Amino acid sequence: MSSEPSRIFYTKPSITEAEVAAITAAARDGWGERCYESILRFEGLFRDFVGSTYALATSSCTGALHMGLAALGVGPGDEVILGDNNWIASAAPVTYLGATPVFVDVLASSWCLDPDKVEAAITPKTRAIMAVHVYGNLCDLDRLLEIGARHGIPVIEDAAEAVGSKWFGPAGERHAGSRGAFGAFSFHGTKTITTGEGGMFVTSDRALYERVLTLSNHGRIAGESRQFWPGVVGFKYKMSNIQAALGCAQMARVDALIDQKRAIFRRYADALAPLDGVTMNPEPPGTQNGYWMPTAVFAPSLGVTREALLTAFRAANIDGRVFFWPLSSLPMFSPQPEHVVAYGLPGRAFNLPSYHDLTPAEQDRVVAVVERVVADARAARGA
Ligand SMILES: *Cc1c(COP(=O)(O)O)cnc(C)c1O
Repeated sequence: MSSEPSRIFYTKPSITEAEVAAITAAARDGWGERCYESILRFEGLFRDFVGSTYALATSSCTGALHMGLAALGVGPGDEVILGDNNWIASAAPVTYLGATPVFVDVLASSWCLDPDKVEAAITPKTRAIMAVHVYGNLCDLDRLLEIGARHGIPVIEDAAEAVGSKWFGPAGERHAGSRGAFGAFSFHGTKTITTGEGGMFVTSDRALYERVLTLSNHGRIAGESRQFWPGVVGFKYKMSNIQAALGCAQMARVDALIDQKRAIFRRYADALAPLDGVTMNPEPPGTQNGYWMPTAVFAPSLGVTREALLTAFRAANIDGRVFFWPLSSLPMFSPQPEHVVAYGLPGRAFNLPSYHDLTPAEQDRVVAVVERVVADARAARGA
């Protein structure tokens, strides 16, 4: 027997007997004339939750982005603007279409793309602006939509990390993913709700939805009477009925799952507040952050490094997760160190474990490690 404290994972799904029962029922009965039953139900539940008119379940968020961008007409020679600190899944579909991802610096306050930098990066080749709500933090969509409208460029939302993030306005609440030309979500096992692997395309633009529906169906146009007669070359990014049954069971608990994420964030924020110089995910007035990934950013004056955090977390048997590298720093792109915020953040920022069933005692262990790293850095600097 080991005396080592149990491992704390940074994230894993919340699965109850309800999820197990839903998957089992779909595996037993969800075939034949019922083979789309859970898919259609999941699409309806998610569409109503987000407040979009149309939703299409996909095998991944990557696939949803790929089809949505294709339906917008993004192709070879085109440019799509996005923030530099992001997961590669946001940029990869742009390259699949032969287009170029154009990275811009992010805001120090939200870690999301800087609207001024977006506007400066617009060229005659710009075909879309991709607003990625990093770690649940909302992009400044008011300004991005205004910029997009002024230049005639659609703004799309990668809301993979933003289930539960929303704006409160005079016209009621608007969920992340529901305000752009389309939104894309991920139900990968690390995300706020899961279908194992999976995603969702949402839009309120009927023509765009119909184009994506055709593309998602291997190019078979709705109403085509001939069997196996695609009208265009499409894609195969479908979600299975069994996965969708899991998604329905998660949607029955979606508000509780978001509440758990928010409670975990609140506990971290309260515990780390006394450590002067640690900032976490923002929640500006008039918004709610779904807090998919509680993230601590350490002021440069603290001298805390990603490497020190990784080492300390590993020693405590806690999963450490680094902040997204600037995409432009990856080998397939060209370095843009002039993005001073994007290049300055990852070396002194860290994601904290946040799976739904994380216990207060486990959170205390995480906080204790962070406190120790901060204290050690102070001591090393003779402060
Ligand atoms: C997880 C994630 C994706 C990709 O989701 P998949 O379902 O794994 O394709 C895309 N964008 C962002 C911002 C993500 O966090």
